[in-house]
Amino acid sequence: MTNHASEHVILTVNAGSSSVKFSLYENGTGLRETVSGQVDGLGASRQTVLVLKDLATGEKSTRDIAANDHAGALAEILASLQPHLAGRPVAGVGHRIVHGGTEHDRPVILTGDVLEELAQLEPLAPLHQPHNLAGVRAAIEAFPAATQVGCFDTAFHRAQPWVNETFALPRVWYDKGVRRYGFHGLSYDYISGELARSEPVLAAGRIVVAHLGNGASMCAMRDGKSVGSSMGFTALDGLAMGTRCGQIDPGVLLYLMDHEGMDAAAISDLLYKESGLLGLSGISNDMRTLEQSDHPHAAEAIDYFVARIRREIGAMATVLGGLDGLVFCGGIGENSVLVRNRICRDLDWMGITIDKVANAESRRDIGTGKTRVLVIETDEEVVIARAVASALVA
Ligand code: ADP
Repeated sequence: MTNHASEHVILTVNAGSSSVKFSLYENGTGLRETVSGQVDGLGASRQTVLVLKDLATGEKSTRDIAANDHAGALAEILASLQPHLAGRPVAGVGHRIVHGGTEHDRPVILTGDVLEELAQLEPLAPLHQPHNLAGVRAAIEAFPAATQVGCFDTAFHRAQPWVNETFALPRVWYDKGVRRYGFHGLSYDYISGELARSEPVLAAGRIVVAHLGNGASMCAMRDGKSVGSSMGFTALDGLAMGTRCGQIDPGVLLYLMDHEGMDAAAISDLLYKESGLLGLSGISNDMRTLEQSDHPHAAEAIDYFVARIRREIGAMATVLGGLDGLVFCGGIGENSVLVRNRICRDLDWMGITIDKVANAESRRDIGTGKTRVLVIETDEEVVIARAVASALVA
């Protein structure tokens, strides 16, 4: 715990399989992000690189580093932050952790016991959780005096009702943790807070938020809380994504095992890495590339992406008993004029119409009908930094 709010320097860490993203915040009268950066290429045969951006000057530096694991990356990050710390210690480190299981509905201080408990959840998110926790262990080593706080992608959805949380499997599986957890919770938490601050009347209403990035999901919110997510047990379910398939008939998986001789590893690669926009187009997982392509398969991949989102909007509006607002965020949601336009087309019966010019300029408020349509830049890092700031004064 630190004595003086003005002395707080907070680091946020998002450790993935081959990268560690980080941001540095000063916490004086409010939180101010001063540095952001990323280590890329961990565990790969290519060179590991550290990119650091000074947000005050706009200066960006890139350098090759020798580190090849999370501990090495965190040590390099610490070294590169020294000039920005100016002798101040890092008081708290906040970590993005994909899975908080059934228990964690809010951020938690990462003690040894909590870390052990979170390691038990690794089988539920094998592609993310082990790396997230490796990031925590590395940060404890690099910043031993700092308070370490875990912020979960699942936490925001813990309030969702049972019918949205369960599968229609024998109940024993629910009890064993086979549930719809939902993800992207830090992004939804940010949007919920941002709406509460800027549009309190709307925030209290019925909102669908579409977080459309390389990973994509949607959240139905009532009064700022999640009542449903398009993602389920894993971050595979729901919408088609860059390389993930989204919703699929589980019978397909049985067929692939029984008749194509595919094992779990091959099916995992198919569903996580080879499907979605990439699989459908055969060209790219990147929406910008697909928008620029004149190949019919690129157009069809966008068609599928949009169609699945429109279906989810209808389903979520029914769950909510109507719709007061539709919010777009994430790389595609914030930037793709075409995708927003296609999603909102012919939805005037739901009160959704958009202004072409406002949409083309990606303005915040693009709706002209009864249902508000907003474009809001999401900020998962600041949600983590706020959680650390709260933990430091608690
Ligand atoms: P991640 O889930 O990895 O954080 P992002 O939220 O950064 O991903 O979103 C990446 C996606 O956003 C990519 O498909 C990219 O093509 C898309 N995107 C970014 N800018 C634009 C744009 N101007 N037009 C269309 N798509 C865009």
